[in-house]
Amino acid sequence: MAIRIIRKEGDPILRKVSRVVDKIDDRIITLLDDMKETMHDAEGAGLAAPQVGVLRRVIIIDVGEGLIELINPEIIFQEGSQCGEEGCLSIPGVTGEVIRPSVVKIKGLNREGKEIILEGEELLARAFCHEVDHLNGILFIDRAEGDKIKKNKIKEE
Ligand code: ZN
Repeated sequence: MAIRIIRKEGDPILRKVSRVVDKIDDRIITLLDDMKETMHDAEGAGLAAPQVGVLRRVIIIDVGEGLIELINPEIIFQEGSQCGEEGCLSIPGVTGEVIRPSVVKIKGLNREGKEIILEGEELLARAFCHEVDHLNGILFIDRAEGDKIKKNKIKEE
């Protein structure tokens, strides 16, 4: 496994639409392993493949309930709404309040190619939406209200 470089806001790759994975080959498995290591190293709760420069529909999430890996994720159900603070490893030092559904069901493939359906509430529902947005070139700051975006002190890198 290897830690990959996290692309930062301003990098055009973050604004592109990622391609569907049609074959889960060794490159995709290595990508998943590297994304996991990269996310944990950066102490993030989620990471999407374009954030490490790969335009494939692959996301990982860990909100403290175990690692979730999803290939070709699709939100199949959502209801309610919640407003909460969000951040992103690609936009260090910035947080903003974003409205998201309170319950989200997502469908995708695991690394064995088996279809899985997961339901998330609160933080997990938010993470599903945030990471799927990345696959469509959308960042949370696009959804945060302007006066709700806060620039915090950036950690020394
Ligand atoms: Zn993000």
